[in-house]
Amino acid sequence: IIDVVGVRKTFPSIGSRGGCVALDDVHMSVRRGEVVVIIGPSGSGKSTLLRTLNALVAVDRGVIRIAGREVTDPKTDLPKLRADVGMVFQHFNLFQHKTALENVVLPQRVVRRRSASEARDRALALLDRVGVLDRQDHYPGQLSGGQQQRVAIARSLAMDPSVMLFDEATSALDPEMIGGILDLMRGLAEDGMTMVAVTHEMGFARDVADRVIFMDGGAVVESGAPEAVFANPQSERARRFLSQIH
Ligand code: ATP
Ligand code: MG
Repeated sequence: IIDVVGVRKTFPSIGSRGGCVALDDVHMSVRRGEVVVIIGPSGSGKSTLLRTLNALVAVDRGVIRIAGREVTDPKTDLPKLRADVGMVFQHFNLFQHKTALENVVLPQRVVRRRSASEARDRALALLDRVGVLDRQDHYPGQLSGGQQQRVAIARSLAMDPSVMLFDEATSALDPEMIGGILDLMRGLAEDGMTMVAVTHEMGFARDVADRVIFMDGGAVVESGAPEAVFANPQSERARRFLSQIH
């Protein structure tokens, strides 16, 4: 369902520093229903790779196909692509001046062209599913981080995505909120959702991932079953990284 072929991304230099190669000839494939966790040191290109998948970052070279769309084709309908490929960020990214319910209703109306009543029914069902139905009339500023993240997940799911991307979805949360969001992600995985998640939660990676990808220096250095990557990393770089976080 995802094919990344030979993708390269450089960012122009900032100030006196030279340009930066964020992704260096990355190849990755994900099958329908697969759960892939991406790990790696800070600056290794994990967020950049996720962001290329729904065209938040344009690549310099290479081809990306996802959910039947060619991301790298300039004719691709970006709002539809981003509806099919849901993304959950570290910092929730909700519309601050809209209530929880409106946050989930609005994109369905605009992108999926659903009627007001259909969009509302789906939104309420999803807010219930993620456990914040009783907060439907709250604005993001009136919600805890964990509750905001639940609304953000409901908003993505309301679009009936084929793939869900998570970029450190629990990193900004208080420790007592993290487990609930991870449980929600685990539930989605069990329901068969195709997922690519960047996370530092190695327990989640071990229990939920079908495959773990280790990135370093803008490249995919290792890719394999979690047991294999964690117990027996093939590269020195992965060994060093894993020894630091355990
Ligand atoms: P972290 O674990 O800290 O989130 P990451 O693996 O997600 O790190 P990226 O955010 O993908 O790393 O960044 C990869 C490289 O690209 C870094 O060197 C970063 O400084 C650079 N980079 C990312 N975004 C930009 C940008 N918009 N402009 C310039 N350089 C960028
Ligand atoms: Mg990142």
